[in-house]
Amino acid sequence: MRPIEGTLCLICGERIYSPYAVTENRGPRCGVCRRVEPVFARAAAYGSYEGGLRELIHLLKYGGVRPAANVLGRMLAETMATLENEFEQPSVALVPVPLYRARRRQRGFNQAELIARAALKNNACGGRFRLCASALIRQRETSSQIGLTRHQRRENLRGAFAVSDPELVRGREVLIVDDVYTTGATASECARVLRRAGAKTWVATVARTLNNSAQHAGIEPSAVRPDETADTEDTLARAVGG
Ligand SMILES: [Zn+2]
Repeated sequence: MRPIEGTLCLICGERIYSPYAVTENRGPRCGVCRRVEPVFARAAAYGSYEGGLRELIHLLKYGGVRPAANVLGRMLAETMATLENEFEQPSVALVPVPLYRARRRQRGFNQAELIARAALKNNACGGRFRLCASALIRQRETSSQIGLTRHQRRENLRGAFAVSDPELVRGREVLIVDDVYTTGATASECARVLRRAGAKTWVATVARTLNNSAQHAGIEPSAVRPDETADTEDTLARAVGG
């Protein structure tokens, strides 16, 4: 469970293999971020979503082993620290991606919120972050994202999230937190409704799916389509009712 290494997209944290990407004057960007300007300023993750880290997240989400959130929270705190230079305001709102209420009731907790609370206990960035767990509401459950194009994923998530009270976030810097960043569709939709309410957003997750296959080496990043490789976890989550 080591931090991600190598050349990463400056915006979304995707792994980059192309030597051309690093020569861009705005820093390395993956093909997706070069095509479409992301809604959030930047997304950062602690580790790759595989092996022990994936098991630990599953222990929390599907096994209900709450102490796992403490370990994951320490990792999130480290990731939050890497973003700290980007914030200008003295107080940054920490907003966990919400679960739909039926899902939350079934699980008994929102893993993103537990991890965020654990990260705050690690006193990340000297108490600058303020948990704002009720800022976002998930208004409906969303169907599986598997097999959908990037555009279809966006449509699938449209209207899924809402800002509970715009006054909570207007003019503020907001750090959206979640356990896993897969395609970024969920984080982007959260960022979109927060931006509409007047907030500037960043994203921090414990884990991220990465283009880590050797077959991507030497391929122009624009030819790599991470949006079609992820979300097997969604399948698993649905299979176990997670
Ligand atoms: Zn990117």
